Amino acid sequence: MALRCGGSWLLSGFRRVVGTSLYAQRLNFIPVRMSSSGPGDEVEEFDLIVIGGGSGGLACAKEAAQLGAKVVVLDYVKPTPLGTKWGIGGTCVNVGCIPKKLMHQAALLGEAIDDARHFGWNVPEKQVITHDWAKLVGAVQDHIKSVNWVTRVELRDKKVKYVNGSGFFQDKNIVAACLNSGQVKCFKGNKIVIAVGGRPRYPDIPGAVEYGITSDDLFSLSSPPCKTMVVGAGYIGLECAGFLNGLGYEATVMIRSVPLRGFDQEMARMVCEEMQERGVKFLHTTVPEKVVKNEDGRLTVHWRNVKDSTTGCDVYDTVLFATGRRATTQDLNLDKVGVKYDKESGKIYTENEETTASDIFAIGDVIQDKPELTPVAIHAGRLLAHRLYSGGSECMDYTNVATTVFTPLEYGTVGMSEETAMQKCGEDNVEVYHAYYKPTEFFVPQRDPSRCFVKVVCERCEPQKILGMHFLGPNAGEVIQGFAAAMKCGLTYKALKNTVGIHPTVAEEFTRIRVTKRSGLDPKPQSCCS
Ligand code: FAD
Ligand code: NDP
Repeated sequence: MALRCGGSWLLSGFRRVVGTSLYAQRLNFIPVRMSSSGPGDEVEEFDLIVIGGGSGGLACAKEAAQLGAKVVVLDYVKPTPLGTKWGIGGTCVNVGCIPKKLMHQAALLGEAIDDARHFGWNVPEKQVITHDWAKLVGAVQDHIKSVNWVTRVELRDKKVKYVNGSGFFQDKNIVAACLNSGQVKCFKGNKIVIAVGGRPRYPDIPGAVEYGITSDDLFSLSSPPCKTMVVGAGYIGLECAGFLNGLGYEATVMIRSVPLRGFDQEMARMVCEEMQERGVKFLHTTVPEKVVKNEDGRLTVHWRNVKDSTTGCDVYDTVLFATGRRATTQDLNLDKVGVKYDKESGKIYTENEETTASDIFAIGDVIQDKPELTPVAIHAGRLLAHRLYSGGSECMDYTNVATTVFTPLEYGTVGMSEETAMQKCGEDNVEVYHAYYKPTEFFVPQRDPSRCFVKVVCERCEPQKILGMHFLGPNAGEVIQGFAAAMKCGLTYKALKNTVGIHPTVAEEFTRIRVTKRSGLDPKPQSCCS
């Protein structure tokens, strides 16, 4: 059936994505008249329309196409208030995991240069080794552009139609895409997947949007950030402060409540202590009040301590807001098609990725109460494609998803924190094993191992099913990944104890863990080969 697409007034089509604040809203809301497809234009029909070409949307689209579905993906990036924009692939590739990991690696290499001397490398002693920010940004951006290119080629090869346009619902099964030219093109879909992810929030304070940046800008900044105030102590705040400090820039983290809320707090405390020892500064129980631009172009951040109401300020070159993210659902017209979502977070309510409207699904960061992680979005997208196009029945299991915080000393974890286990199972029913360890590679350069630490949280009754595993140390992501698979198979402490380690690695420390917190014994490092 050929359908016609009407013109539409798009009040918010080109809004800046700056959260919900009234302050931010004042900045840029001018109604934009969109020109629609002309009369007689046919609306192309698809089995599946995917709105959002990030980790989840692309995975779902490619899988569905492989299974024979006719698929179109719409992807559009609204520039940040600073004007930063990027290509297809979504947050992870362009402004998330990938550039973050590369910059983290750059910072780790700085430490490695120092270690190398101790291992016999003739690194010039007197010469000051400096870091070239512009070169790093250039290398990171080159890599990102190559991934953008490969993504487009892959879509073409898999016969997925790609439209660079901002999608919104015109009707339950009609999605309009607003193209760069201002033209609106419409598509009809049998099924529609919403995978629009989220964007950073700015706090509702004067100067935040005008003078601050977010992770969306950081990885492509043309000049070095220099002295930086990082507001927020979640994943992004701590990771960014960690690599900035490692690259030689002064970094201060402003913490409103606790660092890494929701994570095991003993581990979170150690992550921050380690950062502090390496030079990162922390402002505890503090919130920003305003950012003022000085005559010399530098920024004064004014803050208030939420506990004792004392105030303070300091001057920075960059203010990075890492204060959480909001799902980008505000322009999708969800109310019109009956998709229910949380008005504050913008997140969509789903059950097994089904929204409250039939034949409309949602995956990835856009859904309520699920981990905001790339592999989660990808896995959910693929499973959904199988359920839709190959009679699959498997649903996404969001429990025990492993994750790593890429701070200078990395923190990998899977399952419950100690606090959650105690709360859910009762203190008497939980056993906590813990141990400090010394990575072999720390000995020669005499690096401080005092926060290399592992913790296993398990049921107290035999066979002591493991509820959570926590690892602080080098290569935490690589370590925790395998244990996450073991936990999926119902790993017990008994099985862990009977696992033969690989020596000398840091991962083997999990197999050597013997001291319980309850015993009160010292969890100090065991000797290398005991
Ligand atoms: P996204 O990848 O955000 O993709 C959504 C896409 O839809 C975007 O391209 C967006 O521009 C587009 N879009 C939005 N609205 C529309 C519209 N109306 N029409 C068309 N297109 C639209 N996760 C990890 O697992 N490991 C990490 O180390 C990690 N590090 C991170 C570091 C940072 C700094 C950040 C910000 C995130 C990090 N994440 C990490 C999280 C990870 O990036 C996200 O969980 C993941 O990208 C979510 O995928 P998604 O498909 O749901 O959304
Ligand atoms: P988080 O929600 O993890 O952290 C937000 C931080 O900002 C919290 O410390 C919060 O404090 C603070 N905050 C919020 N509002 C204010 C305010 N007005 N003033 C001061 N502080 C404030 O969000 P992130 O942006 O760090 O990360 C978003 C998601 O991205 C994560 O949940 C994660 O899933 C994903 N991610 C994953 C990574 C990985 O896998 N390694 C890396 C980076 C991101 P409070 O606790 O008091 O609310």
